[in-house]
Amino acid sequence: MQIFVNRAKEIGIDALAITDAKPFNKEKAVLEQVLQAGLYPQFVETDLALRTDPKRLLPSVQSIISVAIAYKSVDPHISQGKGLLSRYAWGHDYHSLLYPRLETLAQWMVKEFGVKEYVVAVDTKPPIERAIALRSGLGWLGQNCAIFVPPYGSWVFLGELLVDIPLPFTTQQPLKPNCSEKCGRCVRACPTNALFAPYQINPHSCISYLTQMKGIIPREMRAKIGAKLWGCDTCQQVCPTNQKALPSQHQEFYPLDGTAIPLIPLLSISKKEFHQRFGHTALAWRGHGILQRNAAIILGNLRYTEAIPALGDALQDPKPFLRASVAWALGEMHTASARNLLHNAQHKETNAIVLEEIELALSH
Ligand code: SF4
Ligand code: SF4
Repeated sequence: MQIFVNRAKEIGIDALAITDAKPFNKEKAVLEQVLQAGLYPQFVETDLALRTDPKRLLPSVQSIISVAIAYKSVDPHISQGKGLLSRYAWGHDYHSLLYPRLETLAQWMVKEFGVKEYVVAVDTKPPIERAIALRSGLGWLGQNCAIFVPPYGSWVFLGELLVDIPLPFTTQQPLKPNCSEKCGRCVRACPTNALFAPYQINPHSCISYLTQMKGIIPREMRAKIGAKLWGCDTCQQVCPTNQKALPSQHQEFYPLDGTAIPLIPLLSISKKEFHQRFGHTALAWRGHGILQRNAAIILGNLRYTEAIPALGDALQDPKPFLRASVAWALGEMHTASARNLLHNAQHKETNAIVLEEIELALSH
């Protein structure tokens, strides 16, 4: 076992554990209930058999290696007119870092242990990675629904390697969680009540989802987003276990561009500028319009009146979902200049949804 841990460390993987390839039947039943209750997360594979039966991914699988790399770096810092990024998006996109490291581990196992077939999975492939991490003993499940991998807290990226040879399994027992019955800080701190009870989350009201969803963010959720431009770390940030988590040794995950981003320039950022600036981070996949929309919502939340001229320009943007968000933000400013801009736009606007937002903003 130690030989695998040592090799993983050599190639930049911080923690490793191994489990069997039996199907995750209990987890499948839970996922079916979650799906029926309408609480299944977006952006996740909905073929539950594919997610929970490793043989569907690799018929010859005999063992699953569960790994983690740590990404805790500096403390977040926010100042006037900036929007906060979730910690995982501060540095280089972890997919492009973890995937090749797992591939290197797999190639080493081909050479040294006779592995013939393997599958590398990092987030985008369907296996139920949290359940694999738990069954292998890599980590424990917190009340905030995050996996904690000692000594790195929940600031970890997970990945898996499925192989066709039997390996010594680390454990069949989950690690003991550090959550005391009385703690519950994560549940109390959730701004949207998405984490509505220990271990229970409504992904549709989670800020992490709201800042990544397409289209217009529901009105009742906009204020709750606060200054979060992309993602949300609150339920991890408040956790006492995470306060003691070891920082990452990987410089790639340290902030490339600060932990918060000036919002006004984002309103007019072009696709090209966006990809130059954010293309190598984990927030690039959704495109520039979503970040522009989020910037407008935050400027409204902050009542950042310096942004009014830039918001006025953004009212001409071709994307209706951005114009609608900008109209809302101008309505939150409560100034004569913001109202003038809304009045002018009202005469020219042809999209019914944007017009409704303008009218609502003017009715304040
Ligand atoms: S904040 Fe408390 S209850 Fe929540 S995950 Fe951390 S230790 Fe557990
Ligand atoms: S990420 Fe934020 S919004 Fe989502 S459950 Fe945690 S605290 Fe709540």
